[in-house]
Amino acid sequence: KAKAEVIDGHYIFRADFHEAAMRRLDLESALNQALEKEEFVLFYQPIINLETRQVDGFEALIRWQRAGHGLVPPNVFIPCLEETGLIIPVGRWVMQTAIQQLALWQQQFGRLTMSVNLAAPQFSHPNLLQDIDAAVASVSLLEGTLKLEVTESGLLETQERILAKFNQIRDRGISISIDDFGTGYSSLSYLQQLPVDILKIDRCFVKDITETGDNSEIARAVISMGAALNMSIIAEGCETETQVNFLHQLGCQFCQGYFFSKPMSAPDATQWLQDTYPELALKR
Ligand code: C2E
Ligand code: MG
Ligand code: MG
Ligand code: MG
Repeated sequence: KAKAEVIDGHYIFRADFHEAAMRRLDLESALNQALEKEEFVLFYQPIINLETRQVDGFEALIRWQRAGHGLVPPNVFIPCLEETGLIIPVGRWVMQTAIQQLALWQQQFGRLTMSVNLAAPQFSHPNLLQDIDAAVASVSLLEGTLKLEVTESGLLETQERILAKFNQIRDRGISISIDDFGTGYSSLSYLQQLPVDILKIDRCFVKDITETGDNSEIARAVISMGAALNMSIIAEGCETETQVNFLHQLGCQFCQGYFFSKPMSAPDATQWLQDTYPELALKR
């Protein structure tokens, strides 16, 4: 709805409010049909194990192939999906699609993992476990290869409910990652009480790591905290070899970022697997 501004007791409709509201309506109605029109697509970004230099698996990242707009990145439309509740059916599609892709890749390349992002309304939704069970039941996956990513700010429920849900997820052999770690407000004691498997160091702290290793204090702190709490660490947004080597020296086991690969379409990721790890396909 267009917003009115009160000036001297009169309601003034501002053109820019109106324009923004129209753009928003436009986005909303296009998103409403996007799932049905099969306009969403998943890209996959590899996560590398620095110990073995092998690919551990992928993170599934949604894009929107919007007619006349090209490939729209998630930051543009996820907020709208969350506000309208459309994130529930779209998130269900993401889960099913990512899991099916993982099953295909496991048949072809062996043990790989898949990380799926969960938005706050998905995590809080009463049907979360049902949806996960339904998606997992449709394929056969290797034990312990599915991971769910939640952000600190995505955990809006009471600590008891979060704890109960985390336990139910982990009872199913599914791991839990805290995404964008360090940008929220989780205290050490809070984190210690949650059964979390993985901390993903936010890209902004990796970006700070320069050629001389300056400004690496936060990355260093998160890595030693993860070790103390028995959690794995994934560094996000690794763009240079210096960053990767430095993080490895600090004890970080996994890296994800443009240095290894940008997110790729499923066919491109399959090709990347064949080219980068030919031995994986040969072993099958
Ligand atoms: P995220 O989960 O933290 O994903 C990592 C983001 O960092 C991705 O952006 C990825 O393309 C980008 N990235 C990875 N490596 C590098 C690098 O080396 N340099 C730089 N500059 N960026 C890098 P993307 O794909 O645009 O996704 C943005 C956010 O949208 C995600 O952040 C996630 O919060 C959300 N999102 C993406 N897909 C989904 C989804 O299927 N469901 C939900 N609920 N959220 C999603
Ligand atoms: Mg993520
Ligand atoms: Mg992240
Ligand atoms: Mg993010």
